[in-house]
Amino acid sequence: MKSAMIVRPVDSNGRVVLPKNLLSDIFKAKDNEKLSVEIFCTDDSIVLKRFRPSCVFCDNRDDLVDFNGAKICPSCLAKLKNL
Ligand SMILES: [Zn+2]
Repeated sequence: MKSAMIVRPVDSNGRVVLPKNLLSDIFKAKDNEKLSVEIFCTDDSIVLKRFRPSCVFCDNRDDLVDFNGAKICPSCLAKLKNL
């Protein structure tokens, strides 16, 4: 992990504003694309990773189908249909 050499204040509500160009560079986000981040913690660090939904069964991230709020990939969906 390397420093981005950027220091930002934390406001009284615990919020930090991240530079937009940093998000687009690191997360490869397009202009006006809605991003969600997943927060990971270690003993002395907080790490943000771009959140991308994945299949609840196999972690595949492509062509997901929503089933009652759960994301399922086509391969696992086919397996479920054969049960
Ligand atoms: Zn799957």
